[in-house]
Amino acid sequence: MLNAPLSRRQFTRTIGAAAAALAAPRLLESVAHASLPEGMPASTIQLDSNENPHGPSPKALEAITQSQSVASRYPDGVVERVRSAIARLHGAESSQVALGCGSTEILRIADMAFLGPERNVVVAEPTFEAVLDYARVLRANPIKVPLTSDFRHDLPRMAAACTSKTGLVYVCNPNNPTGTIVTREELAEFFKRVPDSTIILLDEAYHHYVEDPRYASAFEWMGKAPNLIVTRTFSKVYGLAGMRLGYAVASPELIGAMKRHLLDDNANAAVLAAALASLGDTDHVARQRRLNNDTRQWLCAEFAKDGRRTIPSQTNFVMIEIGSDVRPFIEQFRARGILVGRKFPSLSNWLRVSIGTRQETEAFLAAFRAIVPAAAARAA
Ligand code: PMP
Repeated sequence: MLNAPLSRRQFTRTIGAAAAALAAPRLLESVAHASLPEGMPASTIQLDSNENPHGPSPKALEAITQSQSVASRYPDGVVERVRSAIARLHGAESSQVALGCGSTEILRIADMAFLGPERNVVVAEPTFEAVLDYARVLRANPIKVPLTSDFRHDLPRMAAACTSKTGLVYVCNPNNPTGTIVTREELAEFFKRVPDSTIILLDEAYHHYVEDPRYASAFEWMGKAPNLIVTRTFSKVYGLAGMRLGYAVASPELIGAMKRHLLDDNANAAVLAAALASLGDTDHVARQRRLNNDTRQWLCAEFAKDGRRTIPSQTNFVMIEIGSDVRPFIEQFRARGILVGRKFPSLSNWLRVSIGTRQETEAFLAAFRAIVPAAAARAA
């Protein structure tokens, strides 16, 4: 039987199966590096998007695998479980929680619900751009308030900029790209000063990394400030950026107004399962925070030895002063296989780098020391 000659059809089938077996690992390999720009090698160090380089909790990975069994069904039941788990975490009701395809979707629906040509948006400059990008689509006027001299939101000026025409004031705490925080006391004063007719959109994407005791999550004001929306994400400390899940917590009325703009079934079964597992794995969060903050502190101490300024960060990224326009340096890092943050026009001489693994961060520092003095010498 083994040596029996193959018919043409059997032969074609056998060859086809062998080719598929060979192609499968290549397909998996290309998917494994799907986050890289076209043409970048698999060895590329990605320090450009503030992700968690260590990845999700093993419990979340297991939950993703298990979710295959429900992949053929709409995930309505698990949506409710995730909303309840988030509500429990924050001492709220499920009716106060909206899930988004990343917190980006939450920022978009907040704009859609509360902005328009007659309703402007007050933001810090610079800050995370999504709220402004969607505001532009809605033809809502942006009012940009420069950061303080220590690179923090200027909350008194932002509150003063809110008028009866202001739909939203966006506070990113800690702020992207500077990594700085506003304090509990500053927030308390801000809540007193912002008019009730303005929605306060508080983005806490990087909440878990903060160690400064003066910081407070805006959840302290949930229930006291009816105009408050807090957003969080599974993309950062939970290591699930590629899976896309974020959420908002607010009053049922504000959640209702935003949900009108939400897609039905906007979260997939795999990420919902991963989110439930992640919320249950508090050890993983603590470990990721420690790993990140230790590496960040080490990097900043090295820059201090070089006499180079960094902005004190409470997040998984840090800004480093370059001394001239950052754009050519971004290109030079890329040529060495390291992706670093984009240029922020109002801080054009500063480079934002995400904290990688210790090894990746060491490679970044070595490249920085090679690139930046050489470039400075050329410019002189
Ligand atoms: N808010 C801030 C401050 C961010 O930096 C980011 C992503 N970098 C987001 C929201 C959006 O993240 P996601 O859509 O992955 O939740």
